[in-house]
Amino acid sequence: MRAEAREAFLKVLDAGLGNASSMHGSGRRARSVIDEAREQVAGALGVLEDDIVFTSGGTESDNLALFGAIGAGPTGMGLVTTRLEHAAVLEPAERLESQGVPVTYVGNNAAGSVDLEEIASLASSGPTLVSVMAANNEIGSTTDLVRLRELLGSRRAVVLHTDAVQLLGKKPVKDALEAADLATLSAHKVGGPVGVGILVRRSSVPLRPILLGGSQEAEIRPGTENVAAIAAAALAIDLAVRETDAFNTRTRELSRELWARLQAAVPDVQLNGPALDDETRLNNTLNVSFPRVGDARMLVTKLDLAGLEVSAGSACASGSLEPSHVLQALGHDVKRATSGLRISLGRTSNEDELCTAVDTLRITLGEAS
Ligand code: PLP
Repeated sequence: MRAEAREAFLKVLDAGLGNASSMHGSGRRARSVIDEAREQVAGALGVLEDDIVFTSGGTESDNLALFGAIGAGPTGMGLVTTRLEHAAVLEPAERLESQGVPVTYVGNNAAGSVDLEEIASLASSGPTLVSVMAANNEIGSTTDLVRLRELLGSRRAVVLHTDAVQLLGKKPVKDALEAADLATLSAHKVGGPVGVGILVRRSSVPLRPILLGGSQEAEIRPGTENVAAIAAAALAIDLAVRETDAFNTRTRELSRELWARLQAAVPDVQLNGPALDDETRLNNTLNVSFPRVGDARMLVTKLDLAGLEVSAGSACASGSLEPSHVLQALGHDVKRATSGLRISLGRTSNEDELCTAVDTLRITLGEAS
């Protein structure tokens, strides 16, 4: 958590607030903290306050978008999505398919760009939920949602959901949110606390709740709110949006330098995903394979012992034995998909750390200097 968010979190805890649904004073004070947080998030994202649904994280928001939109949609509504999505979209998609919902996966190229025309053509066949991620967590490819919206037109029969968890704070997010009917965000990706997500939901989009209980969050997401975490999340999101351009520019320079240093240190290193000079890529996410490394998870453990924290695949799937589904969807063989290593740059990353990281990699891989 970034320091400002931590401070906001503790301030709310120390205020000794009650349950935000209670009528008494400490309940009303808790409610007003949530109201202010909603206003802050809506202002930062350029959406209406009524469009903000607080959830427990990106996973819940993705599940709510898919099950909620299909559940409230007309009979026969289909789902069009991609093979590059996070498991929080792919697994609900599989569940929906097993329940008889027609699910289609659109193609993508070797750099991770999905075929927008194909999506539009598939969606024209009838009521459809389209779920396409705004930015990929493993390789940093992005989707032009404004263009996709243009292609889809304003037909009411198509609901456009995007998982924008990785876009937030790394690239401007407002146009993507404007283009989408439903958008998933997660606070812990931008220095907020874990356990707070947002589903931005245009009020005209019918959504069936996936949890049943109280009437919180406009009866879309019942459950007593985590007030301190919501306040901290709102501040972190606000700051991340304000700092996006600076983050993007700084990580562009750093990632280019990291790649140049990596190539110099380990000449047969392979880049997975979009090219380094692709201006649409997330600059903080670099996915590389080392042909002589069989399984990146072994390398991750060795690097961790040497003080370098990186990931194989997505953090959520890194305990699994499967090769990265994203690298496989790019068309890479199992060997390359298993040896993919994800190096992420954060707000505090700097040039010195890059040098140390590349040295650590070179030594761990046993390369001569
Ligand atoms: N979607 C994407 C693209 C992610 O990267 C993640 C988390 O890594 C999630 C969804 C899940 O978000 P959360 O960890 O808040 O449940």
